Amino acid sequence: MSTELQTEIAKAVENRRNFAIISHPDAGKTTLTEKLLLYGGAIHEAGAVKARRAQRKATSDWMAMEQQRGISITSTVLQFEYGNRQINLLDTPGHQDFSEDTYRTLAAADNAVMLIDAAKGLEPQTRKLFEVCKMRGIPIFTFINKLDRPGREPIELLDEIEQELGLQTYAVNYPIGMGDRFKGVYDRAEKQIHLFERSAHGSKEAQDTVIDLGDSQIENLLEQGLYHEFKSDLELIEGAGCELDLELVHAGKMTPVFFGSAMTNFGVELFLRYFLEYALKPSSHSSNLGNVEPTYPEFSGFVFKLQANMDPKHRDRVAFIRVCTGKFEKDMTVNHARTGKSVRLSRPQKLFAQERESIDEAYAGDVIGLNNPGVFAIGDTIYTGQKLEYEGIPYFSPELFATLRNPNPSKFKQFQKGVSELREEGAVQIMHYIDEAKRDPILAAVGQLQFEVVQFRLQNEYGVETILDMLGYSVARWVDGGWEALAKIDRMFNTTTVKDSMGRPVLLFRNEWNCNQLLQDHPNLKLSAIAPVF
Ligand code: GDP
Repeated sequence: MSTELQTEIAKAVENRRNFAIISHPDAGKTTLTEKLLLYGGAIHEAGAVKARRAQRKATSDWMAMEQQRGISITSTVLQFEYGNRQINLLDTPGHQDFSEDTYRTLAAADNAVMLIDAAKGLEPQTRKLFEVCKMRGIPIFTFINKLDRPGREPIELLDEIEQELGLQTYAVNYPIGMGDRFKGVYDRAEKQIHLFERSAHGSKEAQDTVIDLGDSQIENLLEQGLYHEFKSDLELIEGAGCELDLELVHAGKMTPVFFGSAMTNFGVELFLRYFLEYALKPSSHSSNLGNVEPTYPEFSGFVFKLQANMDPKHRDRVAFIRVCTGKFEKDMTVNHARTGKSVRLSRPQKLFAQERESIDEAYAGDVIGLNNPGVFAIGDTIYTGQKLEYEGIPYFSPELFATLRNPNPSKFKQFQKGVSELREEGAVQIMHYIDEAKRDPILAAVGQLQFEVVQFRLQNEYGVETILDMLGYSVARWVDGGWEALAKIDRMFNTTTVKDSMGRPVLLFRNEWNCNQLLQDHPNLKLSAIAPVF
């Protein structure tokens, strides 16, 4: 390969940063995303992302279901530039469309931004997504939002992250006041205060007024009590003596923390600047050839998400590929590791807020959308050069369970085929009762929407109408050591053993409490919430 191309690839990797936002609904993810795009110049006025969404709802070529519910089922990647950096923001579906895809998106992300509502602190969805980031050991940056509203004490929020997530925190900036008394943030590295202007309009980029810590104006600008509070808080965090350690950050053990108010644009640019300085660039991925660096000259990537457009007029499917190494070029021919076939990658797409735009090239850290005529499954590797296969994407712990019935015997074949294909695609997990007499498959999902998608697609693509019966379980655990380990356990209470699509035992529980009880009764039993794909 030419040294020119090698230099080009190395430069692209150096400039790229990719991340996903993890948060609980309403923490302000849409708002923050919009403001980041605003600073990145990708949109010119905040509100554009929502407006696009509304517009799309009005045009009729989107999935019928999506229109009915007014939500977005697909996760997209938003690409924008800031400074000389190329940034990829992987959108994680939240709200009602929370699904296994949300977790899988994190498998393609190099960094995560944990967005927290200052009044609420850590919330359930954030904790779950955090667990996936922790498992992958990716760096986590924390943005504590809504400082313009009354919230919890900053110190208390930092403490909660430390105690409950086991993450060391480093406040990169620190707020002065909160709610009505919110005056701005103190940038610890620069020793400067960025003043908050309440009148600032949130739709355009804001220019911060900045003053040095030593400036005599400060005491005039801040009311007495507030100034003293700020000084004593500052002493407290500086006195703790914790230094920002990028090695710990990159190992996912320390989180740099930022405070701000996305709605009023405050602290967003400050966050972006530091984030780009500290974030991890595209890094190596584990494969059959060992850890493969992003500058490896051959092209490779893996499928982390499949999207089926259910509109009968546009029954296209898109496979989302995380590019891991080399350079992607339009119309290139690659090898497909699982099937051993070669595939020509035509119609590559870059996605901006679900508007498709064709692309000619992409590098490590980018995401491309490929037309998928049933070739790709979740976790598949594509590559050029020597045979390469990345570690698969795990099964994430489902929380909703239902049996699926086909009431029409003449549709037996279509039903079997549809369920099996949708499982392969990763639309839902399938489990089976051990008792052979109970033949109806158990659908296991992270979000309710996954069930609806499966039923909708079975009807529309396979012509099978199905009946779904919800089951009362909410927790699934894989057994370490499989059937052998399970055979050593004599009696188990309040749990049902089923098998996953790979024949491995899975224990289903009605609630966490029953699961913990079982672990107490059998201290040698090891269970896990996430199952690796072999
Ligand atoms: P998402 O569900 O996480 O995408 O949250 P949204 O971005 O839709 O925000 C949820 C609500 O919080 C909306 O009403 C926003 O206007 C509001 N919000 C977001 N950021 C801020 C903020 O910094 N301050 C205040 N006061 N409200 C905010």
